[in-house]
Amino acid sequence: MSVTHALPETDVVVVGAGFTGLYALYKLREFKLRVQAFEAGSGVGGVWYWNRYPGARTDSPSHIYQYWFSQELLADWNWNERFTPQEETERYLNHVADRFDLRKDICFNTRVTAANYDEKTHRWIVETDTGTRLSARFLIMGSGGLTELVTPDFPGKDSFAGECYHTARWPREPVDFKGKRVGVIGTGATGIQVIQTIQDKVGHLTVFQRTAHYTIPMRNPKLDDAARAELRARYPELREMVQNTTTGFDFNPDPRGYFEMSPEERRAQMERLWADGSLVFWVGAFADTLMNAEANEEISEFVREKIRARIKDPAVAEKLTPRGYGFGTRRVPLETGYYEAFNRDNCTLVDISATPITEITPTGVKTSDGEYPLDVLIYATGFDAGTGALTRIDMRGRNGVLLRDSWKEGIHTFMGLQVHGFPNMFMVMSPQSPAAAFCNVPTCSQQQIDWIVDCIDFVRSQGREAIEPSAAAEAQWVAHHDEVANTTLIPKTDSWYMGANIKGKRRSLLAYAGGVGVYKQLCDEVKAKGYEGLELA
Ligand code: NAP
Repeated sequence: MSVTHALPETDVVVVGAGFTGLYALYKLREFKLRVQAFEAGSGVGGVWYWNRYPGARTDSPSHIYQYWFSQELLADWNWNERFTPQEETERYLNHVADRFDLRKDICFNTRVTAANYDEKTHRWIVETDTGTRLSARFLIMGSGGLTELVTPDFPGKDSFAGECYHTARWPREPVDFKGKRVGVIGTGATGIQVIQTIQDKVGHLTVFQRTAHYTIPMRNPKLDDAARAELRARYPELREMVQNTTTGFDFNPDPRGYFEMSPEERRAQMERLWADGSLVFWVGAFADTLMNAEANEEISEFVREKIRARIKDPAVAEKLTPRGYGFGTRRVPLETGYYEAFNRDNCTLVDISATPITEITPTGVKTSDGEYPLDVLIYATGFDAGTGALTRIDMRGRNGVLLRDSWKEGIHTFMGLQVHGFPNMFMVMSPQSPAAAFCNVPTCSQQQIDWIVDCIDFVRSQGREAIEPSAAAEAQWVAHHDEVANTTLIPKTDSWYMGANIKGKRRSLLAYAGGVGVYKQLCDEVKAKGYEGLELA
């Protein structure tokens, strides 16, 4: 181990300057802690900095998808639509960084590559790709859950001679699609947004779909002053409410199970919530949508009917109709005009579950059925979610153990906040908390940061240097997490929720499914009991 006393020191290193990192900076300053943040991008925004692809926008309403910590910020920021586009969210986060003078503590264009825990000094030695080495007592990983992008390893993937993009590394300069033959691989939430947005701007669009998704049509009214005033009047109530509901939104699921309602009642419920054009149809319609297979199949069929009704060609409709897994057991995207894209003459749907991609060639994509010539190829192929941003860093805890090795046989955390063997390292939006997938990021990252900063303050107020969960407390949390996961239908479906999109990743539900409110209550209890389950050094 190198000589640590010669290194520059700070109290806390924060990794990332997205929603999480910015709030962590703000909050830690309130506690008069010295903080250094590192951000790989050239600006703030995190996922909203990198994912600037055409059509990128939130699926959470703007009156929820925001910070609550400043009355002034709430008063002076005007949201323009119910669901905010990428550029507006990025502008908002830049506004927050400027308004609270957060940039001065952020080192941009700098990627954290390693973090080693020095057991003698109880400090983390953080290293970056620009050669910085810094010693910090605490490490907060705000590196995001959807950060580490995935590009499938198709034979010949580097040979494509046209323009090639991954949605999560979209360039700042506009991409000109006019008259071009464009291919999109991937039809998850991202692919759907790209496809519906560029369909009328391209010469020809070829969509390579492996699995059809269930979707909900987005209703996205513009917000005028009156609408904003109405929402603003609810902010004090919303601020509390979102922390205590099941999914961090401003509603809870109807407490009645599907079969507790009459067929007429449940049809009316589905039609009403469908018309809302939001995720309430997914996570607010019935208490048991994601637990009762029979109810789930009926809801799935309702959505299939809605999808089929919008597509002219029955053969295309059949391909776009999701089957073989239940509604809501994968992330349900909101869409706008997605299915109508396939009614256009300039759009071809290729079912790569039937005719797989065999090769990327210099001129296009080859499937078992032939070659599709392209000028532009877009990968909307997702992320190594939850773990990717953490395990790509050479993070060594006690006894030099690497986090990625420690998680090889299965992810283990204490409430998704800390890992046994990695003292003073805190994670946000990480596996085994609702924030990893079952909560909107601002709601849950604010709750987690508040808890983390209080915990750091506790360590310092006790005159101690380090805190970490006991192995027993961690094992108890993992068992509880798994038990709750297995009460749902989600583990039956392959998706990034289960790590199934990454070869070799051990299958387990990424996010805690017990509910945002329940999780907050459990976190509050740990704190109230003097950080029960955590050990001080
Ligand atoms: P994703 O949901 O993982 O979708 C990736 C797509 O690429 C899927 O269609 C997948 O097919 C396909 N794919 C992956 N590997 C492939 C391969 N080897 N061959 C062929 N196809 C392949 O990723 P995403 O769409 O980027 O979305 C990730 C998450 O980001 C979302 O679930 C959501 O939480 C978030 N997001 C949110 C918004 C929003 O709020 N509006 C927008 C975009 C993203 P299979 O389905 O067959 O695996």
